[in-house]
Amino acid sequence: MTIKGNLFILSAPSGAGKSSLITALLKQVSPRSMQVSVSHTTRNPRPGENHGEHYHFVTKDQFKHSITQKHFYEYAEVFGNFYGTSEVAIDQQLAQGIDVFLDIDWQGAQQVRMKKPDVTTIFISPPSKQELENRLRGRGQDSEEVIQQRMAQAQAECSHYHEFDYIIINDNFEQALADLTTVVQSQRLKCSQQVSAHHNIFAQLLA
Ligand code: 5GP
Repeated sequence: MTIKGNLFILSAPSGAGKSSLITALLKQVSPRSMQVSVSHTTRNPRPGENHGEHYHFVTKDQFKHSITQKHFYEYAEVFGNFYGTSEVAIDQQLAQGIDVFLDIDWQGAQQVRMKKPDVTTIFISPPSKQELENRLRGRGQDSEEVIQQRMAQAQAECSHYHEFDYIIINDNFEQALADLTTVVQSQRLKCSQQVSAHHNIFAQLLA
């Protein structure tokens, strides 16, 4: 019996600490059991970002072509740029039994939920508006205008918190990581997953 991987969506306003949480989570598990989907985007790379690792950086024309070719599971416009998740890459990983994390916004989460009702969706919330602003400023990568835009966008993202299966408040990082690990682990322990992974145990028990 083949074990299918679990599909997770992690959404958060920028500055909530989502990327750090995913990075820390991945360090705890084998790369063969969990991967983060690498999205396509039309935005420019930030310092330190690599093509194919953080994103597939593409032109608007390339992105539009991919839309017409139906390459995307979902796509959305965020901060004036397009972002999309490649369908083939994800389905291949899930079929290999790999858990896949999608780091996407609420618009993408809505689209994936329609296509894959068994997706597990998690919203990472900052502990307060002030802390969110501090974190956005602390990155030191964006202009004041961009920070104000991101604050407005963050509020828009936060207004969808109730659409998610789980909410993790990232006040204390270690606690938030433990919460995230618990959600992942509880999915892995679901009956359907366990039966696939340990079918020999049940076959033996009932023989
Ligand atoms: P950033 O430009 O800061 O890397 O990401 C901006 C926002 O776009 C984040 O909220 C991130 O989750 C979202 N995002 C990244 N990739 C995708 C994607 O493939 N689809 C959607 N819908 N949103 C994405």
